[in-house]
Amino acid sequence: MTCIQTTLKQLRSELLNTGARLVAVSKYHPAEAIREAYDAGQRVFGESHVQELDVKRKELPSDIEWHFIGHLQTNKVKYIVPYVSLIHAVDSMKLLREIDKQAGRVGRTVDCLLQLHVAREETKFGFLPTELLDTLQEGEYRRLDHVRVRGLMCMATNTDDETRIRSEFRLARKTFEEVHERFFHGEESFNELSMGMSDDYRIALEEGSTLVRVGSMIFGPRDYSARQ
Ligand SMILES: *Cc1c(COP(=O)(O)O)cnc(C)c1O
Repeated sequence: MTCIQTTLKQLRSELLNTGARLVAVSKYHPAEAIREAYDAGQRVFGESHVQELDVKRKELPSDIEWHFIGHLQTNKVKYIVPYVSLIHAVDSMKLLREIDKQAGRVGRTVDCLLQLHVAREETKFGFLPTELLDTLQEGEYRRLDHVRVRGLMCMATNTDDETRIRSEFRLARKTFEEVHERFFHGEESFNELSMGMSDDYRIALEEGSTLVRVGSMIFGPRDYSARQ
């Protein structure tokens, strides 16, 4: 077994009793690395650059579920909407509207997660919890027939302080429950909380993550100079 395959096996056993699924984050890694993970049974992959994803997916099997996990610009939506399985980081109504429009054009309904800003860093995208509740209260999302809001996504602050990471994930879980109760009550499809990366996925699982997005732990460090 290769290194990628050993790590996947380990991760899979950790996820076994949690009900959470693994998104293998393959950004900046070549198609061959994805193929190795695919051969070990992994089917869900996360990418964060439209062009890179477009190139790689053409070299890879068509039963891969591609998740777009990065910040998505509205002008790029049309390129991924025909095939993407889940868009994790919807951080504005403008973006959700554009996904709806483009999905309508190709006759699809695209699953999306709304990105919650829980980290203290100012650079991270997403709705503040109160902003998210206010936005949903306005109700426009209900009229968008070609998107389905499946849940929330967040990133914790990049820090060694586990207490802080845990409290951010806890806030995300609490917001998820509140949004579910107030706006998606009884809707079984609102059931995803995407949180946790290589350094913090264990904490995220303890706090109720349903999708962990793990990259460097599986594929090794990213070479930012060698993007496809
Ligand atoms: C790159 C990335 C990940 C994976 O990060 P690792 O630390 O490599 O596991 C997860 N989520 C998002 C949004 C990312 O951009």
